Amino acid sequence: MAGRRGPGLLGRAITAFVVAASLSVVCVGEAHRSTPACARARGELTVDDLPAGSSVLDCRAVGRLITHDGAGVTVPEPGTTVSVDALTADGSARDFTLAVAADGTVSYGHGHEEGHGEARTEALTGSRRDAPAPCADGAYSTAGRKEYGTYEWFVGDGPLPGGLSRAEARRAFQDAVATITTSRNDCGYDDTVTAKARYLSTTGNEAGIDRAARCVRRDGLSVWDGGDLGTDAVATTCSWSRPVPGGPDELLEADVRFNTHDYAFTDHPSGGCTQAYDIRSVATHEAGHVFGLGHSGAGHENLTMFANSFACSTDARSLGKGDVLGLRSLY
Ligand SMILES: [Zn+2]
Repeated sequence: MAGRRGPGLLGRAITAFVVAASLSVVCVGEAHRSTPACARARGELTVDDLPAGSSVLDCRAVGRLITHDGAGVTVPEPGTTVSVDALTADGSARDFTLAVAADGTVSYGHGHEEGHGEARTEALTGSRRDAPAPCADGAYSTAGRKEYGTYEWFVGDGPLPGGLSRAEARRAFQDAVATITTSRNDCGYDDTVTAKARYLSTTGNEAGIDRAARCVRRDGLSVWDGGDLGTDAVATTCSWSRPVPGGPDELLEADVRFNTHDYAFTDHPSGGCTQAYDIRSVATHEAGHVFGLGHSGAGHENLTMFANSFACSTDARSLGKGDVLGLRSLY
């Protein structure tokens, strides 16, 4: 399953065409052009209000919130893909991707493993004890996007996890980002990954993620901060990208928020830790999303890109085999 990609957009388009063609046979004699069955609802939309193959232009859906299985994003401008990756405490992965083609056509789940898209909520039944050791587990998935240049990022001026000072948080985040860009691991793999990042400054801007962990606002700055994500998400990454011919999407912006409202974090897990999440472990996982990694899936509980973070554990601070292979496949 490593790196497996689902049916591409072209496949979906062909499927949509076939369906449309067969419908047109059924509908002979009826109106030649029907009003698109989309976006009629007021307020929040669901994927049923904006089905794959419909147009955000016909549906006037740009800027509207669309939800599925508890995940949500604001419909972006044509030529943009938006993805949400939530790290949850109840053991489920909440991923949702909405791609809007340059002509306005909607597709879901572009990129993530299996490609079946829409929201993928996966029950985590395995245990770390039963899963392969991190250096023996080569599983990974990629999200169909990468940072082609340098990921330039900011730290917000609001609350930060673990009550850290801004300087402490910046160091913790910077260390986590560097773990991804240098593919730092304890498995003996050399760093061949060419990803680059640069911390810029503190900002008054915030991560564009709302109190239900939905990707609602792209402001041009990639911001790491803390806030309320609702009760399920420990941390969330929202990324916006655009298609590149013949390659993965190009990352435009990636925001990361820690749920400081509902969860305890620490930069120094120790014997006394009972429920706090290790900031650097969570940050390394989120940085993996920033640089285009998806979740490693059930049965791969010891990899950094497994969809759950384990309280008081620092294991995800360094990468496992699959995490490294995933980065190498992109960089
Ligand atoms: Zn994740």
